[in-house]
Amino acid sequence: MAKEELECSFCGRKKPETSLLIAGLDAHICDRCIEQAHGIVLEESKQSDSSDLSAELKLRKPKQIKEFLDDYIIGQNMTKKVMSVAVYNHYKRLLQPVTKDDIDIQKSNIIMVGQTGTGKTLVAKTIAKMLNVPLAIVDATVLTEAGYVGEDVESILTRLLQAADYNLEKAEKGIVFIDEIDKIARKSDNPSITRDVSGEGVQQALLKLLEGTVVNVPPKGGRKHPDQKFIEVNTENILFIAGGAFDGIDRHISKRLNMQAVGYSASMSDDVVDQSNLLQYIIPKDLKDFGLIPEIIGRLPVLTHMDPLDAETLRAILTEPKNAIIKQYQKLFSMDDVDFTITDGALDHIVEKAIEYKLGARGLRSLCEEILTDAMFELPSSTDKKLEVTKAYVEEKLVKTTLKKLKAVS
Ligand code: ADP
Repeated sequence: MAKEELECSFCGRKKPETSLLIAGLDAHICDRCIEQAHGIVLEESKQSDSSDLSAELKLRKPKQIKEFLDDYIIGQNMTKKVMSVAVYNHYKRLLQPVTKDDIDIQKSNIIMVGQTGTGKTLVAKTIAKMLNVPLAIVDATVLTEAGYVGEDVESILTRLLQAADYNLEKAEKGIVFIDEIDKIARKSDNPSITRDVSGEGVQQALLKLLEGTVVNVPPKGGRKHPDQKFIEVNTENILFIAGGAFDGIDRHISKRLNMQAVGYSASMSDDVVDQSNLLQYIIPKDLKDFGLIPEIIGRLPVLTHMDPLDAETLRAILTEPKNAIIKQYQKLFSMDDVDFTITDGALDHIVEKAIEYKLGARGLRSLCEEILTDAMFELPSSTDKKLEVTKAYVEEKLVKTTLKKLKAVS
């Protein structure tokens, strides 16, 4: 066929009438038809979005959810198991058909208790990634009761809407991670506060959100945009995951365990209680003793704890997860054709320093940055295409002052 005679097999436009004509095996398509077809694809995929979740659930039973989490999160088996069941049940609840029986599956909002840097945010992020739902991460410390300086509780939903690109339907099935929930515990022992702005009042404001209600949400948040129209967001199907370090809660747990041992039986005596990880015995009453109001605890019915990270776990975090820190550096270096290796001795030394300076898992990344910055600066423009990081190399880069600095920022 002569060139001028080419035409779009869909609309029949001749080549000169099109801006672009793409050839297939025995057909051609023009730019306009591509655009139209793309529109149809988008429309179709929007319609099938709601069935995505059911497909997802059919695909992933709790065991598969845990396997997915295992790829990204080291240890924390109890939390991963509890989360897998809670998330599975939550989305089962979303898909429940409207039936005539009176059984209404309640929300399985979750509360995770564990030191900072043990992976609470990571768990929430990984679950959102797996389910392909929007995730908003908010810090409870910035929340205040309406009318006070700070963010209203509704701003949580503004964030979720933003994470969902303002797709209301998606936002209403999203996940909200409320970090530092322990910081809004009641501070009843502080007499100078006449009104507990940041504590109990915020807990009260959160209640409705957690339970499920329709909230008028300012799409841009804050009171700086008084003219904006509100968006009505129904929180009934939003999964809330709260996390907090609850510093000092081990005292409440220990006290309770001791009382049990004295009062009832000696079964919980010191030789069976693992004093190094008291969080594993946590029950809702401990949260109440810490200062969360019972109503909040009731609306976060799934309680789980994070184990402290020991050397073995930190070592595994460096190399094992799917996007482990060391794997990320390997990828970065390989983009410059640099062959990057790190010895076991070097890895052990990094872990040792992270523990010695109490930097936790978050510190691993800062330590690696300190160690590798010079190499990442030099090697891309050097002919040297090999980097072997040994214990001696790590020691040379991590002098005392850098470690002190890292401690200050972590
Ligand atoms: P938290 O929310 O408990 O303060 P994060 O989830 O923010 O802790 O953890 C900080 C970082 O530490 C994560 O981004 C991740 O790189 C790493 N990390 C912490 N715990 C784990 C874990 N159990 N498995 C893998 N990586 C972890």
